[in-house]
Amino acid sequence: MPAGKHKSRTFRRVHVRTPGSKSVVHYRKRKPKAAKCGECGAVLKGVPRERPYKMNNMPKTKKRPERPYGGNFCSKCMRRAVITKVRTVKKAEEKAKK
Ligand SMILES: [Zn+2]
Repeated sequence: MPAGKHKSRTFRRVHVRTPGSKSVVHYRKRKPKAAKCGECGAVLKGVPRERPYKMNNMPKTKKRPERPYGGNFCSKCMRRAVITKVRTVKKAEEKAKK
């Protein structure tokens, strides 16, 4: 019989094969929710779902895509943000010329 704290679904269950070829259940803490896009709320790809202690030891390049706004915006919103930024800069330059 599992201990009282292991009867609820607070912990996730991981089936582990022991060296004696027995299958046992290990209880681990649940992973945090997936990272979301700051603009549209879509789930970000390339951003791992891990607990903070694992994220701290992970290299920066494995934590988010290496592009502008990587890890904050999804690729669609990133493209839109870059295009609007370039357009506003161009408009400002044209105004400065006049
Ligand atoms: Zn988005």
